[in-house]
Amino acid sequence: MNSQPLAGRVALVTGGSRGIGRACALALGDAGAAVAIGYSVNPQAADEVATLLRGAGGRAVTLGADLEDPGAAAALVDRTVAELGAIDIVVNNAGITRDNLAVRISDADWDAVLAVDLSAAFRVCRAALRPMLRRREGRIINISSIAGVIGNPGQANYSAAKAGLIGLTKSLCREVGSRGITVNAVAPGFIATDMTAGMAADVIETATAAIPLRRLGSAEEVAAAVRFLALPEAAYITGHVLHVDGGLAA
Ligand code: NAP
Repeated sequence: MNSQPLAGRVALVTGGSRGIGRACALALGDAGAAVAIGYSVNPQAADEVATLLRGAGGRAVTLGADLEDPGAAAALVDRTVAELGAIDIVVNNAGITRDNLAVRISDADWDAVLAVDLSAAFRVCRAALRPMLRRREGRIINISSIAGVIGNPGQANYSAAKAGLIGLTKSLCREVGSRGITVNAVAPGFIATDMTAGMAADVIETATAAIPLRRLGSAEEVAAAVRFLALPEAAYITGHVLHVDGGLAA
């Protein structure tokens, strides 16, 4: 069995410094890919991921950019190609929440979540597709959320962005499938990361009771799904939304 099925491939993971993105960067690197690790404000965390990958014999670079800035996405793709020579795999993972009941969501909190969680992912796809279309291959994996599938009270902005990512995934799959490019989404449920660490204990308890597997997932369990979708074995899977949610949306 090939232990480095992604050797020679280059992956860009946005939000690769922490949580699910960090686990994705490590999993893709472990499979042999060179990895560009995107981050916004935590260069040390991104450097730590790069150091781990290099220590294991891999290639890695860190790329700081605030994806709320409309120009940042294309620049991330360009820098990935400039520093690692190509872009074969994109994991649109960077995401934020600004939770509130819909009647209290400010325009600023609506716009920020849509900008980082949806518009930036679109812009990264648009920029990465140009070289992928030329080479007639590529893998795009968008990290959505179960909130984008079944909704979640207090997360109208986030759910709208994550549902938008699913629409983006399905439309792109139809646009670029004939060129050998697959586009899939992974929809995590409740995953233990910094994003969920701030949730109140009773909210976690109620959420856990609704999950058939009765526990939160780990970042590594989401990364395993992302790794699979990037592998040659997943070449015939596109337009799919893979739930990694302990059965929450079953
Ligand atoms: P996290 O621990 O909060 O990490 C967020 C990552 O995104 C960090 O690497 C952060 O970089 C980066 N980021 C945040 N804002 C950014 C910006 N403006 N520009 C560029 N990068 C930015 O989040 P997580 O829990 O791992 O979530 C990762 C993805 O999974 C998100 O899209 C999230 O919506 C989705 N998801 C998470 C869960 C969950 O339960 N955790 C469930 C469903 C879906 P810095 O380190 O520099 O801040």
